[in-house]
Amino acid sequence: MYIVEVLIEHPVQSLDRPFSYISDTPVLKGVRVKVAFQNRHVIGYVEKCMETEKTLEELEAENGYAYKEIEEIIDETPLLNSELQQVASYLSQISLSPKIACLQTMLPMQLRPNSQKGVGKKYERYVQAVESMEFKMTPKQKACYEFIKNTHQPMKLKEVPFSSSIIKKLVDMHALDMIDVEIYRQHYETMPEKSNPLTLTPAQKKAVSGITEPLSFKTCLLFGVTGSGKTEVYLQAAQKVIDKKKTVMMLVPEIALTPMMVERFKERFGYRVAVLHSRLSQGEKYDEYRRILEKQVDIVVGARSAIFAPLENIGLIILDEEHDSSYKQESAPRYHTKDIARFRAKYHQCPLVFGSATPSIESFARAQKGVYELYELNQRINLQEMPKCYLVDMAKEVERRNYSLFSNLLKKKLIDCIRKGHQAILLLNRRGYAPYIQCKECGHVIKCPHCDVTLTYHKDSNTLKCHYCDYSQPMVSTCPECHSRYIQPMGYGTQKAEEMLYKEIPQAKVIRMDVDTTQRKGTHEKILKAFQNKEANILLGTQMIAKGLDFENVTFVGVLNADQTLNIPDFRASEKTFQLLCQVSGRSGRGQKKGEVVIQTYNPSHYALTCASKHDYLSFYKHEMQYRYYGNYPPFCRLIAIEIRGKEEAVVSERAQTIVKYLKQQAENVHVLGPAPSLIYRLRDDYRFRILIKYKQSDALMEACQMIHQHYNKDKRQKISVVIDFNPYSNI
Ligand code: ADP
Ligand code: ZN
Ligand code: ZN
Repeated sequence: MYIVEVLIEHPVQSLDRPFSYISDTPVLKGVRVKVAFQNRHVIGYVEKCMETEKTLEELEAENGYAYKEIEEIIDETPLLNSELQQVASYLSQISLSPKIACLQTMLPMQLRPNSQKGVGKKYERYVQAVESMEFKMTPKQKACYEFIKNTHQPMKLKEVPFSSSIIKKLVDMHALDMIDVEIYRQHYETMPEKSNPLTLTPAQKKAVSGITEPLSFKTCLLFGVTGSGKTEVYLQAAQKVIDKKKTVMMLVPEIALTPMMVERFKERFGYRVAVLHSRLSQGEKYDEYRRILEKQVDIVVGARSAIFAPLENIGLIILDEEHDSSYKQESAPRYHTKDIARFRAKYHQCPLVFGSATPSIESFARAQKGVYELYELNQRINLQEMPKCYLVDMAKEVERRNYSLFSNLLKKKLIDCIRKGHQAILLLNRRGYAPYIQCKECGHVIKCPHCDVTLTYHKDSNTLKCHYCDYSQPMVSTCPECHSRYIQPMGYGTQKAEEMLYKEIPQAKVIRMDVDTTQRKGTHEKILKAFQNKEANILLGTQMIAKGLDFENVTFVGVLNADQTLNIPDFRASEKTFQLLCQVSGRSGRGQKKGEVVIQTYNPSHYALTCASKHDYLSFYKHEMQYRYYGNYPPFCRLIAIEIRGKEEAVVSERAQTIVKYLKQQAENVHVLGPAPSLIYRLRDDYRFRILIKYKQSDALMEACQMIHQHYNKDKRQKISVVIDFNPYSNI
């Protein structure tokens, strides 16, 4: 008899220990089983299986517990190989999440332990002639039979040029066999033409050989401006790895995973590329996952969760745009893709490459210290110049009585650009029509009833929406406080900017790209195609337009409000602003034509803006390191953010105090700040407090965090929940 330990997901409690069942046969670790649990039948995941000499009676007497049998073994082979099982344990450890939750995150929907439904495999029906038998056939049947027989291989049913009734008859008399062959859903129709490796520049060559020789564990930082040829370095390094019969993992931020980017990998590597991102259907994801499992691919190109792809024999892991915050998963299990990537690179003893035009301060500091190998691509290919950048002080515009959203310079450059037949990209990092509506008489601003945020006016649907929860309501015509009719949309969102463009620039043809216009599957691609086909001369959008796009006809980029990210009270505000501005201005002048950029701001002398306008990463890095040093922020310390939330304000506040006291007792030499109300104090009806911990290295602190997590999150019926975020992206 065998004792089988099974991990089970429970809707209410957080079960972070396995439960024991018995089985007559051994069960492999990592397969799914059906078991009874608290009067329900659930699917669990085998964590361990041990043979025992004892009888059931002995066991039950010993443990005072009635053992149940495994009801069904679902998989023949483990869902995850031994490496990925180790990854699951590691993830569970760093995220303080139950292992079962980690498995759910790592597997595609169809394979998750708790998944009952889902999309299955897809088959194509083939027919095949049965040989060496005598059949009585009509002439038509004979013609059909002979036709299929002469192909000497199974033929797709839908390609047989005879009627289905004839085929059915032949199948019924066993002259033909039907067979179902599994096919993989292809989310692309045609394979692009093959591209050849380009002759590398000396800097690119140095990077490729530095990364791949030797093919051992190390972290390399590839630092190069947009258009400096980083992607070509990835492609050629990947080729070297594939030549050695190893595989490559290429990760990019979700939003940068554009069709253009995917195409470059398919052009080079053809069908041996799997692509994983959130815009695929469940069926497509499942199929790509199995193509990887069945070793039909050498390269996986994907967004964050692709780091869990069942790729074996990995020879290279690349994270492009390594600074991007989308590499951090912000819901449980919380993890940073870099940590998982490092774990897997170490396991496979292969190089890990971080690429960026604007490396995160932490990564660049590590490269400076020699912890990472640094490779630089200093110039754009063909020595194209970086676009010329102008900072416009919006306060001066107001002095000149220009109250428009567009400064005179931006307007002039935009009109010039359009007149030349070129295209422009405009960034406004706020969707909707107006970020708030306010009463002119009493000053009242309408807020979300569930969150401490203003409601955004959406003109197309004439509604007021909360961008943090799902709340929406019809637009009001009078002030709910004083009943005045002078209640007005204030400020600018992308919808209003679009309206203003049509009003102020007669030649404008605008395509808007934001969350509202890209919700449906495929719309993102459609918008980019339309812009590429020059169906519009202005692409206006939120920061989703900033990344990865490569339109050679774009010669002008305008940033309508650069202060939006700068004014957030977050230690990374400058870094994020600098990165965003560099990224978006890098969209200008990608082709032969020279590009220009106009950045509108009320802080024209802030170093994030002045450095971005000069494309000067190093100066920015020096300024920012000083600020981090004096403020004691990463990389000079590590951070943990603890958020305490719950519906009862007094309880949340009291528990937050208790947690701070506990932390101060348990861990010395750490700096505990707070509790302070979160920037958005109430969110989805929860009150929120935040504790920030600054520390260098502390095992006691780690233990304390684990204890807090276990104490408060064990039972989801607790009045509060505690979210512990290691290395948070922001301190708000
Ligand atoms: P990045 O990824 O740094 O933005 P890319 O790899 O996309 O840069 O390169 C920018 C452009 O330069 C692309 O059109 C690419 O085809 C071209 N390119 C890159 N490397 C070379 C090279 N060695 N010789 C010629 N063209 C190149
Ligand atoms: Zn009012
Ligand atoms: Zn809300």
